[in-house]
This record gives sequence, structure tokens and C-alpha cells, in this order.
Amino acid sequence: MFRNVTSLLVGLMIFLLVLPRADAAFSRVIIDPGHGEHDKGGSYGYVYEKHLALDTARRLAVILEQVGLKVTLTRTRDKFLRLDQRSKLGNRYRNAIFVSIHYNWTRRSSVAGGETFYYYQAGKPLAVAIQKHMCSSARIYNRGVKKSSFHVIRETKKNPSVLVECGFVSNSWERQKCMTGSHRQKLAEGIAKGILEYRWNTR
Ligand SMILES: [Zn+2]
Repeated sequence: MFRNVTSLLVGLMIFLLVLPRADAAFSRVIIDPGHGEHDKGGSYGYVYEKHLALDTARRLAVILEQVGLKVTLTRTRDKFLRLDQRSKLGNRYRNAIFVSIHYNWTRRSSVAGGETFYYYQAGKPLAVAIQKHMCSSARIYNRGVKKSSFHVIRETKKNPSVLVECGFVSNSWERQKCMTGSHRQKLAEGIAKGILEYRWNTR
């Protein structure tokens, strides 16, 4: 009985979240998996950021489509895209948000955790919601929300835009986790939760 009530409530919540509304803030999520092809991004051995980012982006796309949002991926395979091609796609659609997916790297191998960047103030609440839910869903250290002028978020001006760093491939503990599909699924679920909470708050 309790389970039925819970699933009813969850179903109702999803319905309310995706119900088409004239005042809805956005109906499309443009997901940008970082790097691609010869641009591996951060790497350790054969663990490449470009692969982790694409897989996480695909998982995120599946979740968002399941709740009725439109999704555009800037790349769906191991393909190189210039930064301006990515931001051009970020600006192409109306009523959209832009979420760039990355994994991190630093020389200091002890550093771990997730962080989310925005450039324009319009992206900040989205960054806050994604960061909170990504870190709690995947149980990673919360490095906070930061302002930075990464090209893709600085040049995506028409829509709220953020860049998510899901964890450090340079940290052995975090790298082991990032290499598992179940961890990337939790990251994608957390990012999706953040997107839906933001959508709820800006409706
Ligand atoms: Zn990157």
C-alpha cells in the first residue's frame, strides 16, 4: 500500500515537473560532453575524461528524456568539436539550458570531489542545484559552486549555462569510482535531480 502511494506521489511529481506550461522556464536541455577524439581531456593511463564525460552525458540524456524533457547532445560519439561549435549549439534553442559535462585533473593527486561553474548570474541557481544533488547522490566531496570564464559557458549567452566537473581522474580513489557505470549513473541522477529542482523553482 505504502509503495503504491509512494509511486503515485513520484508519478504525480514527475507529471507536475514536466507538464507543459506557458510560463515554463525551459523545455530543452543541451548537454555538452567535454572534449572528444584527439582531445582526450584529463587522463590517467587509459582512463580518459572524454569517455567518462560522454557516458555520463548519455546517462543524463536518458533520465531527462524519461521525464519528458527535450535533449540535445553536442556530441553523441567520440568526435572533436571546437569550443565555439559547442556554444553555438548552446545558443541555438530558445527555452533551453546548457550543461557541459567534464571530469577533472590536477597534479595534486590528493585532490578529489565535484564542482560546478557558472559565468553569468543566470546560470548560478542552476549550478547550485546541480552541485548539491550531484554530490549527495554520488556521495562525493562538495568543492562548491564557482564562477569561471570557461569558453563554453561564457559564450553561451542566450540560455542559462553551467559546466559540471564530476570528479578527478588524477585521484586514484575517485578514478576507481568514476570507472564504474554505477557511479556515473549516480552522478547523472544527481545532475538530473538538480536540473528538475531548478526547473521547479523557475517555473
Ligand atoms: Zn574537461
